[in-house]
Amino acid sequence: MKRVILVGGGHAHLSVLEDLARKPLQTKTPTEVLMITPEAFQWYSGMLPGLIAGHYQAPECRIDLQPLAKESGVKLILNSVIGIDANRQCVCLPDGTPIEYDVLSLDVGSTTDTSWLSLSKQPIIPIKPLDNFIDRWNRFLDRAKTQGSCHIAVVGAGAAGIELALAARHVLGDNAKKYKVSLIGTSSGLLPGHGKNVIRRIQSILDRSNITFSPHKATATDDGLLLSSGELLPANCVLATTGGTAPDWLELSKLALDSSGFVAVDACHRSISHQNVFAVGDVCARQDKYVARSGVHAVHAGPILAHNIRTTIMDHASKEPPRGKYILKEYNAKKRSLYLLSCGSRYGVVSWGGLSFSGTWVWKWKNRIDTNFIKRFSRINE
Ligand SMILES: Cc1cc2nc3c(=O)[nH]c(=O)nc-3n(C[C@H](O)[C@H](O)[C@H](O)COP(=O)(O)OP(=O)(O)OC[C@H]3O[C@@H](n4cnc5c(N)ncnc54)[C@H](O)[C@@H]3O)c2cc1C
Repeated sequence: MKRVILVGGGHAHLSVLEDLARKPLQTKTPTEVLMITPEAFQWYSGMLPGLIAGHYQAPECRIDLQPLAKESGVKLILNSVIGIDANRQCVCLPDGTPIEYDVLSLDVGSTTDTSWLSLSKQPIIPIKPLDNFIDRWNRFLDRAKTQGSCHIAVVGAGAAGIELALAARHVLGDNAKKYKVSLIGTSSGLLPGHGKNVIRRIQSILDRSNITFSPHKATATDDGLLLSSGELLPANCVLATTGGTAPDWLELSKLALDSSGFVAVDACHRSISHQNVFAVGDVCARQDKYVARSGVHAVHAGPILAHNIRTTIMDHASKEPPRGKYILKEYNAKKRSLYLLSCGSRYGVVSWGGLSFSGTWVWKWKNRIDTNFIKRFSRINE
């Protein structure tokens, strides 16, 4: 018996399930595929700002992994992996159970870095894990509405932070005296890595929405957020979208990692140290060229990953693999990725290289792409 383990129900692994549902593995040696992930639902982060803004209900923004796994013939284990020994080819569950594999694929995302925010007793709400974020946000929102005032500070001025700040403003209404929203970045400014036009456009939308942007690093204190400019923001809710760190359990995995602890992979998303291990999405670091950590790449690398897992397990499970048949594919990320940012109301901004457009049509376009993504994984064989 051969075994493939998919760790995490992330964006790329959805494509692996889809691929297996469409074309079951036909190996000479029987092969089982397991997916280990903590929740039965995979949230689609692109729709989270729309959920916070009140445009969507929770079930519209997530994919139920159970029917998808069933159609794919994949055994779903609702648990977390807390360790890997890549030399012994096994993963470890929280109760200490080891599970051996022949081929392993990691799509576990990243964790929000709150290290420089955690000096206070004030609760910080990290954006990931998303289900935890949504629960805590909903509780905060109910309290804020009952009290009739709040000050929300969103720390992290990348696309996710901007979308969340605008979504919070939208759901709380225009009264900026009662409901204050601040956005905190670093000296890299708004939307690092995006073109000047889109940054200008976003700045003017923030101004119109009465969201103040401070390009100063923040430290959380018991009285609020202390900015590197010396200003103290008396926020009673801090939402952290401060970029991702690698899961700490990778440290002892014996996999080659980059200097920040992410799994070092080649262009085929195969570990550079272990040929039977793949990693895709936010958890990996491409060694051949820079590929940004974003949902776009996690999604687009999915079909390549599906091919490469299939190819590798066929190679392992065939008694006499024909020479040259099992060739892995490379994921060639496009130079420019399309980003559609939702801006609170049903209004969006396009960022594509140096180009930028905005309008309600952008939101409709994004809505169509996002809802089609959910539909695609909700009815594979219909
Ligand atoms: C508000 C917001 C908006 C965003 N909008 C966009 C956008 O418009 N476009 C874009 O390109 N990017 C966007 N991003 C970034 C995008 O969300 C991430 O880059 C993307 O989710 C990465 O996908 P992934 O498959 O690597 O991981 P994830 O989608 O994070 O999936 C990881 C999976 O692994 C599971 N898991 C975690 N730990 C373990 C463990 N120990 N054992 C087993 N399973 C585990 C999780 O439960 C989850 O199912 C946004 C992010 C946020 C927060």
